[in-house]
Amino acid sequence: MAKRVLIIGNGIIGLSSALAALRSGFDVTVLDRHAEHIENCSYGNSGMVVPSHFVPIAQPGVISQGLRWMRDPESPFYVQPRMNLDLIKWGMRFYMSTHRDQVAAGSELLKQMHLASRELYCQWQDQGIDCSLSTRGLLMLCNSAHGLEEEAALAQKARELGIPASVLDARETAALDPNITMKVQGSVYYQKDCHLNPAQLIGSLRKKIDSLGGKFVYGQHVVGWDEQAGQIRAVRTLKGTFEADEFVLSTGVWSDGMSKPLGLKIPMQPGKGYSLTLPDPVELPKVCSILVEAKVAVTPIGSALRFGGTMQLGELNESIDPRRLAGILKSIPQYMPLFKPSHFEGIEPWVGLRPVSPDGLPYIGRTSLVRNLVVATGHAMMGVSLGPITGELVAQILLGKPTSIDLRHASVDRFRE
Ligand SMILES: Cc1cc2nc3c(=O)[nH]c(=O)nc-3n(C[C@H](O)[C@H](O)[C@H](O)COP(=O)(O)OP(=O)(O)OC[C@H]3O[C@@H](n4cnc5c(N)ncnc54)[C@H](O)[C@@H]3O)c2cc1C
Repeated sequence: MAKRVLIIGNGIIGLSSALAALRSGFDVTVLDRHAEHIENCSYGNSGMVVPSHFVPIAQPGVISQGLRWMRDPESPFYVQPRMNLDLIKWGMRFYMSTHRDQVAAGSELLKQMHLASRELYCQWQDQGIDCSLSTRGLLMLCNSAHGLEEEAALAQKARELGIPASVLDARETAALDPNITMKVQGSVYYQKDCHLNPAQLIGSLRKKIDSLGGKFVYGQHVVGWDEQAGQIRAVRTLKGTFEADEFVLSTGVWSDGMSKPLGLKIPMQPGKGYSLTLPDPVELPKVCSILVEAKVAVTPIGSALRFGGTMQLGELNESIDPRRLAGILKSIPQYMPLFKPSHFEGIEPWVGLRPVSPDGLPYIGRTSLVRNLVVATGHAMMGVSLGPITGELVAQILLGKPTSIDLRHASVDRFRE
């Protein structure tokens, strides 16, 4: 009889893991507290697959930039200053992770994972897991000479790692996407980056999992573990218990709290972000882009155009800060002058909570504390991009095989004191 695997969390990470586990011969159930995927982070995000994002968020210089942003209420980054021990410890670990050697090791891991996922998305598309994948690349649009200089230096590092990246002047940038009027100094073009429709992706994955015999259990909020001597027998929800042979914890930003009763330490902070989708934009680019100085992502999704941004750390709620939204809206015409803040009147913002680890790397693997648990979480701003390969790695771990990517730096126990 096939081993029973219970996957907790119905986001991109849980679903990718479910697909790979089913294909590896496991009997798979996905459990979530909600029925609808609109209530998780995997739904309204910017849908980018980003080998360009090979540098972990904890990197040299990021703290001083963050402190400067903290003074501006419309800036793309904010941490609510407060005396919270978890947040303080997280901040200290973040600081320690900005060491150059650690960033270099993290970059190698992220590069391998992004490129492997990109490959898998192309295969999924061919296998009928439709997510409107577009492989046209991504433009890092810069509206300042300093921004372009920094992006050009990063492009050089990308090329050294084997990620193609070209620095373009304003004319070359305009020629690459004639569909959109741009006011920029130049850009870096990452041809391996892609974009997709995240809601469609989640829907297609669910259908595929269903067709392969995977089961879904919704409306079950996990509140505890039935564990003895390092072996989990079942999870307890508000309505009952669910037994399995193996458990996969992929509950995004909630994974830290969920794993504490088992003795795990997977520090995580919520990184709140927003997206706004114009159903009928004045112009529709062909290529997705990032407005570099403003840290706003722009994604064509069918005939609509989505703008995503902001990183508000430490707020585990879905309240909306109108000043941050105003910051996003103000920045768009500085790069795309035909767009006006008035175009967004009546557009409902979407809120998502990114699961952010202190070193910007995911947690993937088993823990030394519990034999039959695999953790797959902490993908921060890259869960879509790293999802498919995370699923494959989870399945390899469940099978007891060596993983196809060295996961040393994604170890689940790396922050245990
Ligand atoms: C504005 C914005 C733009 C983004 N753009 C991109 C992008 O372009 N590319 C990219 O790669 N990433 C992007 N991201 C990040 C990406 O969305 C996340 O990394 C990803 O969605 C995380 O997926 P997940 O499966 O780990 O978590 P989630 O999608 O949050 O899923 C976790 C699931 O666990 C369930 N759960 C939690 N607790 C319990 C419990 N106790 N019992 C039962 N179920 C539980 C939840 O209901 C939820 O369904 C963006 C994020 C934001 C906010």
